[in-house]
Amino acid sequence: MMGLKAHAMVLEKFNQPLVYKEFEISDIPRGSILVEILSAGVCGSDVHMFRGEDPRVPLPIILGHEGAGRVVEVNGEKRDLNGELLKPGDLIVWNRGITCGECYWCKVSKEPYLCPNRKVYGINRGCSEYPHLRGCYSSHIVLDPETDVLKVSEKDDLDVLAMAMCSGATAYHAFDEYPESFAGKTVVIQGAGPLGLFGVVIARSLGAENVIVIAGSPNRLKLAEEIGADLTLNRRETSVEERRKAIMDITHGRGADFILEATGDSRALLEGSELLRRGGFYSVAGVAVPQDPVPFKVYEWLVLKNATFKGIWVSDTSHFVKTVSITSRNYQLLSKLITHRLPLKEANKALELMESREALKVILYPEG
Ligand SMILES: [Zn+2]
Ligand SMILES: [Zn+2]
Repeated sequence: MMGLKAHAMVLEKFNQPLVYKEFEISDIPRGSILVEILSAGVCGSDVHMFRGEDPRVPLPIILGHEGAGRVVEVNGEKRDLNGELLKPGDLIVWNRGITCGECYWCKVSKEPYLCPNRKVYGINRGCSEYPHLRGCYSSHIVLDPETDVLKVSEKDDLDVLAMAMCSGATAYHAFDEYPESFAGKTVVIQGAGPLGLFGVVIARSLGAENVIVIAGSPNRLKLAEEIGADLTLNRRETSVEERRKAIMDITHGRGADFILEATGDSRALLEGSELLRRGGFYSVAGVAVPQDPVPFKVYEWLVLKNATFKGIWVSDTSHFVKTVSITSRNYQLLSKLITHRLPLKEANKALELMESREALKVILYPEG
């Protein structure tokens, strides 16, 4: 292979602006795929990594675990998850995580998202060692042979697909754990960030009868309605009791069949537990960093209701594939989640926009 000059925005020190760097790439390891990044999503968790709040992150690192791109070179033979041979020029997306396939969680319990050896592009893979390019805030990424890849086409919206790679797949995981059909069911979603809003589209796609969103930002609640929520409740403008009454009215006094916690705040469980019907299912996906304990009523909320509370940690390849499927049928709706589009060189501004919550989702473009 000819030498290639790649460029990336590198986090060298926590809380210090990302630095523009160039990398010389000659040969890539056997079985690897060199990909030109066409679209990179900025995730809220990138801000935590930038701040040094995520213990998984080594330095220096190229952040970015949400991406879509075009194959430049495959060293050897690699097929996508549908068995199609990858070749230069193909447009692809990939599962951001690689699991070991050997541990208890991979082999016995079949919960690969819990694999302790899980490697994630842009999160726990530094850029000091060749071939350096292991994150999406970059002109190129080098994918390991074990990476699970899907070919897409020119008709696909790569920006929306990139965005779906983290919050979309995690939201899908939250719904996938529900053991019943969503037909005729009332879904309550707490939080209207990317996770909660993907939840709206997924709930609709899976056939839920009512989709209700509780959040605090009028703009995001309006967006939730535009993409399919039947009812939105602003938690700053209504009381807990008013919201409870609204949900009981819709469900003949029973409460929600399924709740998705997508707020990132443990206190959401205190309200949600009052909204859940007896026998209901609660997917807790948003709380992803340690927080203060909350006073949980074990008898009233768990035992007496025979309720299921399910923690949701990241996602696996099956969630990735199904998320691509649902996303590809909803590009028009989901593209509304993208509030900012910036050149890669403005990645620092992108992190600021995410931290201030001015942006819901920023997409970075390595070229221009
Ligand atoms: Zn494993
Ligand atoms: Zn993420």
